[in-house]
Amino acid sequence: MTRIVILGAGPTGLGAAYRLQELGYQDWDLYEQHDYIGGLAASFRDDRGFTHDVGGHVMFSHYPYYDALVEKLMGDNYTEIMRESWIWMRDRFIPYPFQNNIKYLPREEVLECVLGLIEAQRHPRPSETFAEWIEATFGQGIARHFMLPYNAKVWAHPLDRMSKHWIAERVSVVDSERVLRNVILDRDDVSWGPNSRFKYPLHGGTGGLFNAFLPYVEPRLHLQKAARQVDFDARVVEFDDGTCTRYDVLISSLPIDQLVTWSKGAPPEIREAAARLDHSSSYIVGVGVAAPCPSTRCWLYFPEQDCPFYRVTYLSNYSPFIAPDEHHYLLLTETSYSPWKPEPGQEIVERVVDGLVTTGLLEEADRARIASTHLIDVPYSYPVPTLERDDALAIIQPFLLRHDVYSRGRFGAWLYEIGNMDHSTMQGVEAVNSILLGDKETTWKPSEPSSRTPVLRAA
Ligand SMILES: Cc1cc2nc3c(=O)[nH]c(=O)nc-3n(C[C@H](O)[C@H](O)[C@H](O)COP(=O)(O)OP(=O)(O)OC[C@H]3O[C@@H](n4cnc5c(N)ncnc54)[C@H](O)[C@@H]3O)c2cc1C
Repeated sequence: MTRIVILGAGPTGLGAAYRLQELGYQDWDLYEQHDYIGGLAASFRDDRGFTHDVGGHVMFSHYPYYDALVEKLMGDNYTEIMRESWIWMRDRFIPYPFQNNIKYLPREEVLECVLGLIEAQRHPRPSETFAEWIEATFGQGIARHFMLPYNAKVWAHPLDRMSKHWIAERVSVVDSERVLRNVILDRDDVSWGPNSRFKYPLHGGTGGLFNAFLPYVEPRLHLQKAARQVDFDARVVEFDDGTCTRYDVLISSLPIDQLVTWSKGAPPEIREAAARLDHSSSYIVGVGVAAPCPSTRCWLYFPEQDCPFYRVTYLSNYSPFIAPDEHHYLLLTETSYSPWKPEPGQEIVERVVDGLVTTGLLEEADRARIASTHLIDVPYSYPVPTLERDDALAIIQPFLLRHDVYSRGRFGAWLYEIGNMDHSTMQGVEAVNSILLGDKETTWKPSEPSSRTPVLRAA
């Protein structure tokens, strides 16, 4: 029998494991370095009873299979939330998306944004980098006031090193008539896009959903098993406790650069390509406050330099079980960092609290009401779509597939555009469908078709 080994029990690994048990397949195992499952979609309850996600997680779905799975795993145990998101800039809150609500800006800036947009549409310019695409699409005003500073803060990377090819529905683009109508008719425009309503687990934060995989995968789940080396020729994974396991096919959700760097058998050009992949890191700081929540908002964006974070989520508005009771609420902040944007980690919690006061989310007097602060340092947070990314992946992935290694998921595939929870879970499911049934993967597109015979179809 073909032995399938899965590395990492985040959404990708759990999706793969779930599908294997669903198909009744027998020869597989799932290995996870931590003593918990869920990966970046896990949640953590602190001593004071606040539940923290690893940054604000909004559940999208692009798949009927994923919808049915979520329904099966969560049953009625979810809340449904109407998205309410805002931008804090120029000392005021502006409804998201920015371009549809520029009427909130000072009058000269409204004019600059409108003129820039007209100019951009009148004289379309070709673009290659993300920075060029922003200016060509939104015009100089919207670019200068919001899109460039906000994205530089999120990605922690120079935007002229990033490509534009990952952008589909991930950045809300512009409808110039709508922009003008909203300005001239003085109209608010707050409803946009695929995530205007979203579900959230009632219990356990985002991790509550992924913990519900446990009964299906537990018999073959091995916790606290950190892979430290994969031998692609011998098809053996070695763990940091000195033990090894053999595989015929490997599904890995480890960061692909680590998988390659730690491997035995990857030639220099593959290692060199892996070294060209860029990622950002994050500090996720949760601040629990002993007071009733003063806002119905979901999350806020912060493009300016008056605070370290780029986004804050009122996480306790998502479920009554995020905070200990209704006399407490939780603010979850996200601050990115990278070699291009270093952030001193030692004082990050203090700087976040100061930023919450500066931006008016907390009053000065609230400092004394802070019941809990919780820091999560996330070394791999966003896989950055740089100009070099696709060339690097086009070298690495065919090599891995030739060795029957499916590197999938947020950092396994390193494709931000398919890096959400639903995409990742489905990449795991589809990898199994490819291995066992010979189905073509549709979320992750192979650079080169796999030549292996499907396991179940061959039998
Ligand atoms: C700040 C932030 C905000 C996000 N917001 C959203 C959102 O709003 N909506 C959404 O859908 N998604 C969101 N995501 C993305 C979501 O978290 C990912 O889609 C998902 O977690 C990726 O799943 P994965 O299994 O591919 O990777 P991970 O979640 O990274 O899981 C990989 C697993 O592999 C394990 N592992 C790593 N190295 C080893 C090793 N050497 N040996 C064994 N195990 C190992 C890890 O411990 C982890 O459990 C967000 C992510 C971040 C960071």
